[in-house]
Amino acid sequence: MSKSITNWIRPEIQQLSAYYVPDSSNVIKLDAMENPYGWDAVIIEEWLKILQTTALNRYPDSSARKLKSLLRTVMQVPERMEMVLGNGSDELIQMLILALNGPRRVLLVPEPSFIMYRHLAQVVGMKYVGVPLQENSFTLDMYAMLEAIETYQPALVFLAYPNNPTGNLFATEDIEAVIETTPGVVVIDEAYAPFSNRTFMSRLEQYPNLLMMRTVSKLGLAGLRLGLLVGSPNWLEQIEKVRQPYNINVLTQVSVAFALRHYTMFKEQIQRIKGDRDILLDQLSALKNIQVWSSQANFILFRVADAQAISKQLQEKGILIKCVHGRHPLLEDCLQVTIGTSKENQAFLQALKQLL
Ligand code: PMP
Repeated sequence: MSKSITNWIRPEIQQLSAYYVPDSSNVIKLDAMENPYGWDAVIIEEWLKILQTTALNRYPDSSARKLKSLLRTVMQVPERMEMVLGNGSDELIQMLILALNGPRRVLLVPEPSFIMYRHLAQVVGMKYVGVPLQENSFTLDMYAMLEAIETYQPALVFLAYPNNPTGNLFATEDIEAVIETTPGVVVIDEAYAPFSNRTFMSRLEQYPNLLMMRTVSKLGLAGLRLGLLVGSPNWLEQIEKVRQPYNINVLTQVSVAFALRHYTMFKEQIQRIKGDRDILLDQLSALKNIQVWSSQANFILFRVADAQAISKQLQEKGILIKCVHGRHPLLEDCLQVTIGTSKENQAFLQALKQLL
């Protein structure tokens, strides 16, 4: 057999593109759904003191006991439910797919949605079925969803709530019908819950095949990489077997725990981001030659005549947003802008106005 790479790398991997993150040095960065605010100087000082006393020669606490107990309170995890932590929710998505994959097993996702669901299914080798959302409203197409569930009997369903990149919340009764008809597990990915004030967390007791996923990334800790999967001990003791023993490093454990003790700071930042989102939504909606969707998250989806050209021209003006055109037919000529500071949002708006 030849030593050629193409003979050995699995064909599904060869067909994939690596997750691309553009260079963001010296730009106004509104492309990754991050919180634009840092920490107050006093808080940074306190945090540095904790880092000074953190030992790096030992492995981290594999069970992250202290951190989990704080997360339980902040994320309002119901008492009887367990948690598995991931190096970002990206890693949890991969763990779920690894644990649930098998011959004829299907991962079903309404689309467009978060691209890592499909990407990781392809990496692991799980069959992926995307069910288009309703055009323009981006609500679940329940006829198509229930038919797909009946046909494919999915082992796993991901529902992003609010959805990325569309920013909307699916209807409660539609989600309930998906949970009730899915034979496998339904994971509600609440990455953007801080901005929506809506959650299915309290419904875990009611649905044995429901799991919840959260992250601290959108709160303002994207650099630390921490996601949590919440659900009944029966499910989570199985998923826990897939987890790498030391996936949450020492610095992440102490820093997230420290940050959660200052949760009011994040709450204030989130309030500010939500207010600025609503202002930008109104301002974008007042423009001509643009279609704007309302959002329950920290980003806004909008459509222009030529998304690729506008995205490139904005970048030339030093403003980086996400071009989602080409990701799905329903996203034709769509762009996604993350809510930054009010100054950044206004710089983006002015630049966009000149280009439309
Ligand atoms: N789920 C959704 C819906 C997301 O949009 C994202 C990040 N863009 C993630 C999960 C991943 O989050 P994390 O930073 O925790 O890996």
